[in-house]
Amino acid sequence: MAHVIETASTGRAKCRGCGEKIAASGLRFGERLPNPFADGETTHWFHLDCAAFKRPEPFLEALGASSEPPDDSEQLATEARLGVAHRRLPRIDGAERAPSGRARCRSCREPIGKDAWRIRLVFYEDGRFVPSGYVDVRCSRAYFETADVLPRLRRFAPDLRDDEVMEIRQELGESPPA
Ligand SMILES: [Zn+2]
Ligand SMILES: [Zn+2]
Repeated sequence: MAHVIETASTGRAKCRGCGEKIAASGLRFGERLPNPFADGETTHWFHLDCAAFKRPEPFLEALGASSEPPDDSEQLATEARLGVAHRRLPRIDGAERAPSGRARCRSCREPIGKDAWRIRLVFYEDGRFVPSGYVDVRCSRAYFETADVLPRLRRFAPDLRDDEVMEIRQELGESPPA
């Protein structure tokens, strides 16, 4: 079966991208995968934005085949295409201050200082997102080949305050909004 975008009939399914429940009657993306334990297929459910960020290729397939594309499909497609063009972007799983100075940046291999902003990474392996270290926010451009990471950081670190986002934005080398 093909990947699907559909209205969630119940609110029980959890999003594989962010771990939160998908509200009933909201739209959801279903990625069809071979069932590892039996014959047939299994479906992994995502919020649409989580899918655009973390599973861009199958999401774009489903979006292209959708008979009733969602209202924000242009924006979702833009983010997904960005993740196809820059192969490491879908690894982004939010941002946080480093609680210690022990972890090394996956880009420059230097230790990330305590309290410095770092980006959490997950690698997609066998249908699962595996925690895979950190990148110093200041190394974003070097690692992701783009500094256009804020929508992803905010989506997967929803508790970030505006002043914290401003700090991150400055470290990304963008000028703050007027
Ligand atoms: Zn989600
Ligand atoms: Zn670095």
